[in-house]
Amino acid sequence: MTTGKINVSVENIFPLIKKFLYSDHEIFLRELISNGTDATLKLKHLISIGEAKVEYGNPIIEIKIDKEGKKIHIIDQGLGMTADEVEKYINQVAFSGAEEFLDKYKDSAKDSGIIGHFGLGFYSAFMVAEKVEIFTKSYKDEPAAHWTCDGSPEFTLEPTDKTTRGTEIVLHIAEDSLEFLEDSKIYELLNKYNKFMPIPIKFGTKTETLPKPEDAPEDYINETIELDNIINNPNPAWTKQPTELSDEDYKSFYRELYPMQFEDPLFNIHLNVDYPFNLTGILYFPKLGSDMQIQKDKIQLYQNQVYVTDNVEGIVPEFLTMLKGVIDSPDIPLNVSRSGLQADGAVKKISNYITRKVADKLKALFNENRADFEEKWNDIKIVLEYGMLSEDKFYEKAGAFFLYPTVDNTYFTLEELKEKIKENQTDKDGKLVVLYAGNKDAQHSYIETAKEKGYEVLLLDSPIISHLIQKIEGDNTGLSFVRVDSDHIDNLIKKDENTISKLSDEEKEALKTSLEAYIPKAYSVQLEAMDSQAAPFIITQPEFMRRMKEMSQSGGSGMFGMGNMPEMYNLVVNTNSELATNILNTEDKTHQEHLVKQALDLAKLSQNLLKGEALTAFVKRSFEMIK
Ligand code: ADP
Repeated sequence: MTTGKINVSVENIFPLIKKFLYSDHEIFLRELISNGTDATLKLKHLISIGEAKVEYGNPIIEIKIDKEGKKIHIIDQGLGMTADEVEKYINQVAFSGAEEFLDKYKDSAKDSGIIGHFGLGFYSAFMVAEKVEIFTKSYKDEPAAHWTCDGSPEFTLEPTDKTTRGTEIVLHIAEDSLEFLEDSKIYELLNKYNKFMPIPIKFGTKTETLPKPEDAPEDYINETIELDNIINNPNPAWTKQPTELSDEDYKSFYRELYPMQFEDPLFNIHLNVDYPFNLTGILYFPKLGSDMQIQKDKIQLYQNQVYVTDNVEGIVPEFLTMLKGVIDSPDIPLNVSRSGLQADGAVKKISNYITRKVADKLKALFNENRADFEEKWNDIKIVLEYGMLSEDKFYEKAGAFFLYPTVDNTYFTLEELKEKIKENQTDKDGKLVVLYAGNKDAQHSYIETAKEKGYEVLLLDSPIISHLIQKIEGDNTGLSFVRVDSDHIDNLIKKDENTISKLSDEEKEALKTSLEAYIPKAYSVQLEAMDSQAAPFIITQPEFMRRMKEMSQSGGSGMFGMGNMPEMYNLVVNTNSELATNILNTEDKTHQEHLVKQALDLAKLSQNLLKGEALTAFVKRSFEMIK
C-alpha cells in the first residue's frame, strides 16, 4: 500500500470547496457521471483506432445507493485507470484543477457568476462526501487499484481484487448531505442533469410484465422480468440530422424535454453548425399569445449532452429567451462570469447565428405556407416585435415576413399595406397614414367610422407596439401611424369632407363658450362641421402624447422618462348635429349643463374612459331620466 500527500499548496482544500460552492453541491453527480461517460467514450475511441484490443460491449453507467452504509456508488465500464494513472490523474490533474479553480474564483464563485459551476471535475465529490474511494481496473492488463482519501490531502493507494474493467467511485456521504441518499433526490438530479447523456445510465430496476403466450391456459399468470431502469435518452433529437427527423419526432422530443407541457409547439428551428463554432440544438416557438410572462420551461443549455443551465442570458439574444428548446455547444466558455460571457467573441457569433437562423426560418415558413403563418401570427408576433426592437439585424430581415393584420383579419406585409393605402390614405404632407386600433371593443365606434370612409384599419394590440411604431416611422418608411381615436385622424377623415356648417360663426363662438363652461380642463374643445348623422361628441387623444405615455408605461425605454404624463384629450363637437343646436338654444343654464355633461359622459363611455364613481353617477342619472 502507498500512502502519500497530495501536492497542493492549500493545506486543506475541501472545506474551501464546500464553502465556495455551497449552493451547488448537487452538481457532484453530474461531474462524476460525466467522468464515467468520458472514460467510456475514450475506450470506444481507443478500440476504434485499434489501440485497445478489448470488447466494447454495451457499456452503461450505474448509480447505486446504499442507504444503510450511507454510500453512493457510481460505476462505469470505461477505460479504467492503472495505479500509476490514478497517481497522475487523480492526485495531480484533478487536484491541481481544484486549486486553480479556487484561486481563480475565490471571489466570483460566491455570487454564482460562473455558469453552472461547470468543469469542477472529480473533486466536486468532496462537496457531499467525507471520504471518497476509487476502485478501478484499466483495460490494460494491469492490477486494479484502490484509492482512498478522507478529505485531507493524505491519500492511500493499494491493489485491489476488482476484476471487471472500469471505475467505481464510492462516496461516503457526509452528515450534512444525507439528503443525497434519497432515491427521489438522486432521481431528480439524474433527470435534471443527465437526461440526454450519451451513455445509458442505470438507476435501479423496473419490473416489466411479459405478454401472455398464444396457447396460455385460462388461469395463466403473466410472467414478469426485472429490467435495468435506464433513466436517459442517449440519442436526443438535437444530435440527429434534420433529415432524419419527422414533425412528430420534433414534437415528441418537445414532450420529452418538458413533460409537463401539454400544448404542442408551433414550429421548431433545428440549429446545426460546426464552423466557426460548434453548436447544435432545437428551438421551439411555443404558443405565447400576447402575454410576456416569464416562462418556467426555459431554453436549456447543454455541453456535449450534459445539462449546464436553463439561464441562457447572454448566449441567446434576449428576445428569443421566450422560446423553448435546447442548445448544445462545447464552445461556450462556462468558467466565466455572465459579464465575461457577453464580451466573448465566440458567444457573440453564436448569438448572431441564432438570430439569423430564426429569421431565416420565419421567412421560409412565411413563403412556404402563408395561410398557416397568418394563423400562428398572434402567438408569435410578440417575439418578433421584441426582436425587431432589440436586434437591428433581425429588424432588417423581419420586413420580409412581419405582418400587419387588419381588424377584419386580413394580413399585409408592409409593402402590401403601402400599396393598398396609397390611393386614399395620405395626409396633407403626402405621408401614407396607417390607421390602427389598439383594441377592437374599446375603439369600436372609431373603427366603424373609419371603415365607413373606406379606410383600412389595422389591429395592433401588443403591449410594446408603440415602441415598434415609433421605430418604423423613424425608419424613413414615409409612414405615419395614427390610432383611430387620435386627433391626427382629422387630417384624413376631414379631407374628403365638404360639409357646410349649419351654424354661423357667432353661433359657433357662443356654443364654444357654453361648452367650455362645463367641460373639465383636460379637454380642449374643437368644433367641426361633420355629417349630421355622425356622433355629436367625439373624444380623441393626441397620438404623440398617448404613444409616449404608453411607451413609458410598457417600459423598455427608460430614456423617455415620462412616467407621469398628464392625460390630454380633445373633445370634437359636431356642429351639424342636432345636439349641438339643442345645447346652443337651451336657455336654462342648469339644463344646458345637464346636456353637455351627459353628452360628454356618453362620449367617454364609448371610449372606455368612464370609470368608477363617474360611471356610477352616470348610470344613476340616466335611470332618473327614463323613469
Ligand atoms: P477532467 O475530467 O476535467 O479532466 P477531473 O478532475 O474530473 O478532470 O478528472 C481528472 C482525470 O481523472 C480525468 O481527466 C481522467 O483522466 C481521470 N478520471 C476521472 N474519472 C475517471 C473515470 N471514471 N474513469 C477513468 N478516468 C477517470
